[in-house]
Amino acid sequence: MATQLTQDLTGQVALVTGSASGIGRDIAETYAKAGATVGIADINIEAAQKVVDAIESQGGKALAIEMDVTSEDAVNAGVQKLVDSFGSIDILVSNAGIQIIDPINKMSYDNWKKMLAIHLDGAFLTTKAALQHMYQNDKVGTVIYMGSVHSHEASMYKAPYVTAKHGLLGLCRVLAKEGAEHNVRAHVICPGFVKTPLVEKQIPEQAAEKGISEEAVVNDIMLVNTVDKEFTTVDDIAQLALFLAAFPSNVFTGQSIVASHGWFMN
Ligand code: NAD
Repeated sequence: MATQLTQDLTGQVALVTGSASGIGRDIAETYAKAGATVGIADINIEAAQKVVDAIESQGGKALAIEMDVTSEDAVNAGVQKLVDSFGSIDILVSNAGIQIIDPINKMSYDNWKKMLAIHLDGAFLTTKAALQHMYQNDKVGTVIYMGSVHSHEASMYKAPYVTAKHGLLGLCRVLAKEGAEHNVRAHVICPGFVKTPLVEKQIPEQAAEKGISEEAVVNDIMLVNTVDKEFTTVDDIAQLALFLAAFPSNVFTGQSIVASHGWFMN
């Protein structure tokens, strides 16, 4: 008999890092609408509280958690706060991220380390903290890493970003193998360019740096390899994150799913 797909997360507790803004915010709001209780974990606690207020005004349930994902103590305390408040953690979306652009010969070692700390150490630390609870029961646990087309492709001047996003594929694949016996699954979502503050900042910067118009940055650089010159949207990514969290089997574990209007087809 065909399985009925559900988009219902009622009774589930999710932690979304970097959810005070952009992609993470939309995922958190989408999960809350689907019935989940959501921890809004971000280094920017004021912005996180505004997301909580927005979710609560729609009848959802959420908790602001101040968390720098590069701090083991902050991550452990934040995950514990979520579990103490709501009893479990069933879904982790490791999404917090920044961008620093420079050619390799000019990239400072500090910036290299900062990028790897946020994107890779943050993914490891939040995963490790979540597994302490996910491995305690037989419930399905879902871990989603926010990769990028840059988990598969390189672009100039983004060495630490591309390196970190490739690294997430490795972490996801190991977790898929180790987590299977505990009913924990792992996925990487790989968006193309999405118009969030992280990207909007890059458009005028690149236009000034290259001496071209902002329109040229968008059409001839960012969207040049899409099939239709369209940005991926926060909602495209949130719907994919909902699909993966609600999917009734482990069939997609260990996989990365590219959502990019045809930029990089695998
Ligand atoms: P954004 O700037 O809108 O949001 C990022 C959030 O992460 C912010 O709320 C910020 O405060 C938070 N954050 C930053 N450092 C943190 C830290 N150390 N600890 C906790 N929170 C921290 O960016 P976005 O575009 O929504 O990006 C979210 C994720 O999606 C990132 O991992 C990014 O690499 C990835 N991504 C974005 C795009 C895109 O085009 N926007 C494409 C592919 C992948």
